[in-house]
Amino acid sequence: MNSDSMHEKSAPPAPLTLLGAGAMGTALARAWLSAGHPVTVWNRTPARAEALAADGATVARSAAEAVAANRLVIACLLDDASVGDALGDSELAGRDLVNLTTGTPAQGRARAAWAQERGARFLGGGIMAVPPMIGVPESGGYVFYSGSADLFEEHRDTLAVPAGTRYVGADAGFAALHDVALLSAMEGMFAGVSHAFALIGGEKDIDPRDFAPLLVDWLTAMAPAAHQVAERLRSGDYTRGVVSNLAMQVAGGATLVRTAEEQGVSTELITPFHDLMRRRLADGHGEEDTTGVIDLLRSR
Ligand code: NDP
Repeated sequence: MNSDSMHEKSAPPAPLTLLGAGAMGTALARAWLSAGHPVTVWNRTPARAEALAADGATVARSAAEAVAANRLVIACLLDDASVGDALGDSELAGRDLVNLTTGTPAQGRARAAWAQERGARFLGGGIMAVPPMIGVPESGGYVFYSGSADLFEEHRDTLAVPAGTRYVGADAGFAALHDVALLSAMEGMFAGVSHAFALIGGEKDIDPRDFAPLLVDWLTAMAPAAHQVAERLRSGDYTRGVVSNLAMQVAGGATLVRTAEEQGVSTELITPFHDLMRRRLADGHGEEDTTGVIDLLRSR
């Protein structure tokens, strides 16, 4: 055991304030309470905070009272506007504000500046978990953090109690950016999954339960292609190591569209990506893979 982990064992669990006892806030509070952290909780609708008193939480009557109770203040509210609403009357000077409320990168940066103007250190967060994954290390849930590195280092052990931690930089908007980028990729995946189930949907001899494992295995096998995309972006050479070039993929795309039509399925989920691939091909990039589509999407 090194001296850090010995210190960790002997240090009493740090007290903290939690603003928000919604589904996620409640899960976070329970994880900290079960690990022995004294938790002061505030919720706009008092009944939801009071439900946590049975688990050992101290319930504050106002957000200002909750903020005054502890240096470490964690907000997990509906959206960025609710953070402003909740903290409007609170004295933030000398506080460490960790905002686990989902928002955009620009909202994260603006909220960091807002907190700093009021004398607080700030860390933005993006939760990559659903409430049942909180406090369950084997679930793989984690939280992106960005902003004050000092704040993160100081409270790292406490922040690691409900879920894993990934610090992604000093820019307070980066936690939100990483969060939303992963969610957006997930949305594309669910779009593909929806289209695939629609294709087989009219076939009474294909059980969706037999099809699902094939789909999962295929997506799992294809997902590592993201590493090659990253390598090509980094090198600027989009033709490096390409095994399925754009010219072939555009030709294959026509088969995907025809199959959808034959099966009586709308092509509205797949045509936007095909249109982008065709534009890139028309610009003379047939030897690339789909990495060049990223350049078409970006306006800056
Ligand atoms: P809930 O809808 O369960 O809770 C929302 C919370 O925000 C409640 O405490 C609510 O108070 C409070 N709130 C809403 N508006 C205001 C306001 N104007 N002023 C003060 N408080 C307000 O949401 P969750 O707990 O599930 O989500 C909280 C955050 O966690 C969100 O940003 C969400 O995106 C994020 N998150 C949630 C996940 C999930 O699966 N649940 C997954 C990953 C991130 P009241 O009880 O009074 O309504």
